[in-house]
Amino acid sequence: MPEFRHDPLLHCHVIVAASRETRPHDVPRPPDPPPEECPFCEGVENATPGELAADRPAASPKDGPGWRVRVVPNKYPAVQGGAGTGPQPFSGPEAMADPFAFPAFAATPSAGSHEVIIDCPRHVPGYEGMTLEETRAAVRMYASRLAAHRPSGAAWVSLFKNVGFQAGASLSHAHTQLIAVPFLPPTLRRELAALARYRRETGRDYWADWQRHEERDTRLIAECGDFLLVCPYASRFAYEAWITPRRQVAALDLEPKTRLMQLARLVRQMVRALREISPGAAYNLVFSAGPFQPDGHGTPKRASATMDTSDYRYRVELLPRVSHLAGFEFSSGCHINTVRPEEAAQRYRESFSQ
Ligand SMILES: [Zn+2]
Repeated sequence: MPEFRHDPLLHCHVIVAASRETRPHDVPRPPDPPPEECPFCEGVENATPGELAADRPAASPKDGPGWRVRVVPNKYPAVQGGAGTGPQPFSGPEAMADPFAFPAFAATPSAGSHEVIIDCPRHVPGYEGMTLEETRAAVRMYASRLAAHRPSGAAWVSLFKNVGFQAGASLSHAHTQLIAVPFLPPTLRRELAALARYRRETGRDYWADWQRHEERDTRLIAECGDFLLVCPYASRFAYEAWITPRRQVAALDLEPKTRLMQLARLVRQMVRALREISPGAAYNLVFSAGPFQPDGHGTPKRASATMDTSDYRYRVELLPRVSHLAGFEFSSGCHINTVRPEEAAQRYRESFSQ
């Protein structure tokens, strides 16, 4: 029997309908593009814009080979501000004058940065093809780039990976994207409001209560040092899995190095487990972050004045794209998940115990 599950932070429902997993599929999956002429491979550094940062020996020249992790501006940016060559100071958006504009339509020039973090010099699809040391170097770079964007005035930074065609990847070489924007996304505002409401109504921290409950539940994948791995109760995607820190930390760049190294190991392990459960599955990986500037440009004054960000806790979300988002998701904003989170956690536990 399908089940409606409510996500208490995002205020949306998920339909868990395990029986749909067995429905027939006859639409072939498009193959991954061939790796020839990959602009992210070591040795063709001139195929990308000049690097913003790199993990490379001091003696190796900028924009040459020898790097472990390399950060470049996205050649096809979603947002741009200033010269688009790294963390830019945000200037206030100015309305574009249009005497015929419908007053309800608003437009401002974009502001922000869009970077590509090339995780590894070798042509591998993701952490599953990288060594633990390479994964650690990549995660250290993510934290360092978030820190680099903090003083820019960006309200929020999105850090994510798209792996595989169905997850929106255009290049198959392991890479991560960072988009800094001058506004807070609606989902984050909803989450902050829900956390503040929980605090108001119970006097307690939502995430502390959540962890106390989940570490005893069948959705727990593993407890690993300072982190908890869980398939969330209202998982939107089949085999969705989260890594959450045990302490209140708002973003990756606020973690000490020792915990970043633990996190890198777990992220790699989680992705490798998904590869065992669903070989070839595309996935998105999201490193969530709290607001950088609660009153950043674009955030309505009323919202920023009441926004309490002290309970925000980052998490790493693995969002497998085993099935497509389709008409129901777009028409309702609700997801249909064909694998019960309790069963997904069981599969992850089996993989983790090997
Ligand atoms: Zn490559």
